[in-house]
Amino acid sequence: MNDLAVQNQCLLLKLLHQWAQWAHEEVDLSILKGENAVGPHWEALRSLLPLYQSITFVDVGDGRATDFWNDCWTGKVPLPACFSNLFSHAKVKEIQLLLERNEKKKIQLQKVVDNGIHEFLVPRLSRMSAGELEQVLGIITEIVLEDRPDNHICPFAAADGVLQAGPVYKAIKTHGTSQSLLLLAWSNCGPPRVQFFAWLLIQERIQCRANLKKKSIVEDDNCELCKQASESADHLICRCPFAENVWTKKGFSVDDALVGLLWDARRPESIAAKQYHVFLLLLSWKIWKHRNDVFFPHMEPSFARLGAALKEAAALWQFRFPSGDRYVVTYWCNAFVSILA
Ligand SMILES: [Zn+2]
Repeated sequence: MNDLAVQNQCLLLKLLHQWAQWAHEEVDLSILKGENAVGPHWEALRSLLPLYQSITFVDVGDGRATDFWNDCWTGKVPLPACFSNLFSHAKVKEIQLLLERNEKKKIQLQKVVDNGIHEFLVPRLSRMSAGELEQVLGIITEIVLEDRPDNHICPFAAADGVLQAGPVYKAIKTHGTSQSLLLLAWSNCGPPRVQFFAWLLIQERIQCRANLKKKSIVEDDNCELCKQASESADHLICRCPFAENVWTKKGFSVDDALVGLLWDARRPESIAAKQYHVFLLLLSWKIWKHRNDVFFPHMEPSFARLGAALKEAAALWQFRFPSGDRYVVTYWCNAFVSILA
């Protein structure tokens, strides 16, 4: 039976997206306020704005129509969802005051790329937020602005621009929202650099050869491990014969596996439910590192070396878990023996 509350949300989102198409001249889409945006309809729609923003993202062009803090322009969540400490040091109160006076003011991504982020932050940062700043600076330096307008995209819209309520319904029922899916990348107990890897991975943005070829950095995107296929994120982590061998030894089925749906992988009975996402991440991370070893220092692919690396990482990562969860690592290490064999 359909969930009527979710179904109703989907229909409102569809309406919101339609209005967004023709109303963006008069209404600031990032806050849904404007001269014509009054009345109960807009109130209801405004309450759905965070959800709408979680299913809409910006294909960045010149960065002028992109709201640095509120739009999803890097990955599929707004920055504050991942960097809450840094956001708490943003000069947002001043922006809020301007908004209340109905003076349009948002921080354009283009301004941040051109002038740096520091003028939009309070002067003193906590240690946590300084760490997050490092990561955000890494994201900003990756952005290359182009001489074309930004494009706001909703992956649930059909070619005619109309939002499809059915797929949105399915996505919300399966994952919550794409936001919660991506937040899993940051909220698990893996080390920070591995969380960053997870965040890139489930958006298929790791520096695999297929992605490097798209950016014209390499000409040949042949897989380093098997030399048999284009090295996309899906191929490298799930479907490459080397990776497939690792996953199937652990009881996973990789026939139609996609890195974007990594968290959905069905859990084999031999793997504990606790810290299961970290287990998936550990395997993915070490397959990626293994591939880099084969590529850069030119080592031969080796299950024995991968198995040893998995055991070593698991032994270290367990100290990041709540003490009651650490027992799972013993099971993991037993499971890795089959990879070593
Ligand atoms: Zn391969």
